[in-house]
Amino acid sequence: MSSNALKGIQFLEQLDVKDKAVFLRVDFNVPMENGKITDDNRIQGALPTIKYLLEKGARLMLASHLGRPKGKPNPEFSMEPVGQYLSEILGMEVILIDDVRSEAPKAFFKGWKPGQILLLENLRFDPDEEKNGQDMCHAISEYIEVYVNDAFGASHRAHSSIVGLPKMISKKAMGFLMKREIEFLDSLVSTYQSPYVTVLGGSKVSDKIGLIENLIDRVDVFIIGGAMAYTFLKAMGYSTGKSLVENDKIKFSEELLKRIEARDKKILLPQDHLIVPDFNSTDKAMITENRDIPEDWMAVDIGPLTQAIYREEIARAKTIFWNGPMGVFEKSEYSKGTFSLAKSIADNKDCVSVVGGGDSASAAKLSGYAEYMTHISTGGGASLEYLQGDKLPGVEALRI
Ligand code: AMP
Repeated sequence: MSSNALKGIQFLEQLDVKDKAVFLRVDFNVPMENGKITDDNRIQGALPTIKYLLEKGARLMLASHLGRPKGKPNPEFSMEPVGQYLSEILGMEVILIDDVRSEAPKAFFKGWKPGQILLLENLRFDPDEEKNGQDMCHAISEYIEVYVNDAFGASHRAHSSIVGLPKMISKKAMGFLMKREIEFLDSLVSTYQSPYVTVLGGSKVSDKIGLIENLIDRVDVFIIGGAMAYTFLKAMGYSTGKSLVENDKIKFSEELLKRIEARDKKILLPQDHLIVPDFNSTDKAMITENRDIPEDWMAVDIGPLTQAIYREEIARAKTIFWNGPMGVFEKSEYSKGTFSLAKSIADNKDCVSVVGGGDSASAAKLSGYAEYMTHISTGGGASLEYLQGDKLPGVEALRI
């Protein structure tokens, strides 16, 4: 890596953790349905760091947030199912600590042995967490000697467990998952190879402006899909029917098209679309003959011609970054464009392909091609902020 992304940061191997009380901030903010974890990606992602610390004889305290309980205990967002799941996959006991600020857990901490895991209850049950309050940090800091952050997906938040706590602890390091995330994302802004293709989709242009601005001089080709494509097509004068358009971003889109052209770079927009008269009329879906979308119809996916054009461009790429689905992929009838894109990326065996978390990560997984991507980020918001050039508070707090 040629940039300063990890300058001044220590890694696990540099710390002596034997018999030490280690606080490990993980991102266990996993999707759940009826108390069951529906995607364990983030837990799996943290396992190498957890196992390493246990093997090295650390006394391990794990902590994460889960959902948005808004500073109050709420059983719906308890870490209990996560603790149980972790206990099953590790084959060892995981002790849940209800309130780290109360007197009650003191007994646990006294008997805390190397190789034993304590899991703090949802950090966001404490009002201090999201406001980077110091009281919670002080309470935790009394019990711990080493701080490790492996919660990449939360590292764009200046919260207590991400920023306040590491500032109080001198022995601190970045976990394996977070290091891998930063290395891949940093390669997209520093050591990337051309041709560099960035595929952007999802619902809004406005969410991607910072990213486009930061990548415009690096990327050779922008491929656009999802609802955000219709704002561009409207800016170019095509009819977009009832498709989702951000009218206040038409001017930006127009200017961006000019700037891309002036730089001799390419932007590919859909040539055909899958359209429906309304969102639920899956049986009436049809493909347009060209870019125009008839009045009273809405586009919900890219069409087959577009898929083929995108495939050709992706096949030539040496670096690919993908963020955002090509259509309403959650509905199987509208998922072809997104899944075909995932296949195109998977089929290019001679490139570095990075998928930027959130919806794109679940789309890649659903498509069945996730294992062929070089890296799938565990943090949607954090990866976007990194790529738009923002400093991540969680990374900065680790610098010594
Ligand atoms: P984002 O949160 O911006 O990444 O956008 C992801 C969402 O965009 C997904 O829930 C998709 O269903 C939605 N999306 C993608 N294409 C379209 C479209 N053509 N019309 C409406 N929503 C779309």
